[in-house]
Amino acid sequence: MKTSPATMQVKLIDYAQAPLEKLFAAFRTCYSSETPIEIWERIEAQKIGHDRIREFVGERLKTGHASPLEQVVFWFAIAGVSRSLSHQFVRHRIGISFEQQSQRYVKFKQDRLAYVMPESWTRANLDDEFAALLQKTSDLYRRALDAGIPAEDARFILPNAAPTNFHVMVNFAEMLHICDLRLCVRAQWEIRRMVALMRAEIKRVLPEIAVFLQPKCGENRMGYCDESLEDWTKCPLGRVRPHKSALFELYETYGRKKAQALGESEFREVEEREQL
Ligand SMILES: Cc1cc2nc3c(=O)[nH]c(=O)nc-3n(C[C@H](O)[C@H](O)[C@H](O)COP(=O)(O)OP(=O)(O)OC[C@H]3O[C@@H](n4cnc5c(N)ncnc54)[C@H](O)[C@@H]3O)c2cc1C
Repeated sequence: MKTSPATMQVKLIDYAQAPLEKLFAAFRTCYSSETPIEIWERIEAQKIGHDRIREFVGERLKTGHASPLEQVVFWFAIAGVSRSLSHQFVRHRIGISFEQQSQRYVKFKQDRLAYVMPESWTRANLDDEFAALLQKTSDLYRRALDAGIPAEDARFILPNAAPTNFHVMVNFAEMLHICDLRLCVRAQWEIRRMVALMRAEIKRVLPEIAVFLQPKCGENRMGYCDESLEDWTKCPLGRVRPHKSALFELYETYGRKKAQALGESEFREVEEREQL
């Protein structure tokens, strides 16, 4: 059995139709005396302009009222990513549903067992040795299957480099969260690349939704970097996005007073105040 590099593929299969309108109606239901049916009748009769819908949704996205975002869903087909990536991806547990290719039921029967090889191995001139080890592993895997070892046991020798496939359903709220974390350069390169491709797929068909898919420091997300100052200085986005420490300095320079730890008197004020 010959080994060969796998190619990452990410395709948006489907998405909730009219996502902006769905977000608008979901938010408006919370803030309006109209029923959701009346809101939808006005949307469908085009009595609410597209710009008004986009603007309203954009304003709501600046607040912490995030549950309406769970009503917009995307489906992705993803192939050729490593098991190393999949360990990280499946840690996301809220608002996302995965189906992943099984190493119990799928035997790598094809004459080439593919693998994912980081470019750093090529840069280090160790790519041939990487491929040779994978070749040896593939041969032993094949011999194990031929000897009657079940696939669920033969797979114990398969490496993190082994490729896998996903069918994924993810809602907009979770997609935003995944982009917050995984488009940040602190995330590992392969999952960062996959999430960038997911974002590109959404952008292709829904650019007005995709503008919100940014790393957490993006102007449409938290807006600043909350990672360590050391990481921020190394990050290419550090050129255009501030670090939290700079914001505190500004607050202290131009704010009314120094930022202080919350004490009991602040808690009493929060507890006793009737409204803002
Ligand atoms: C740069 C980076 C390095 C990492 N390094 C490691 C590592 O060394 N070791 C390791 O084990 N993991 C590591 N992780 C994975 C990380 O700890 C999370 O498991 C992963 O990012 C999934 O995100 P999440 O917990 O926000 O889950 P999601 O399912 O994406 O969560 C969505 C939201 O729901 C909230 N939520 C989810 N479940 C609960 C719950 N039970 N209770 C309350 N709120 C909940 C979350 O706070 C989040 O806001 C790393 C992640 C990143 C981005």
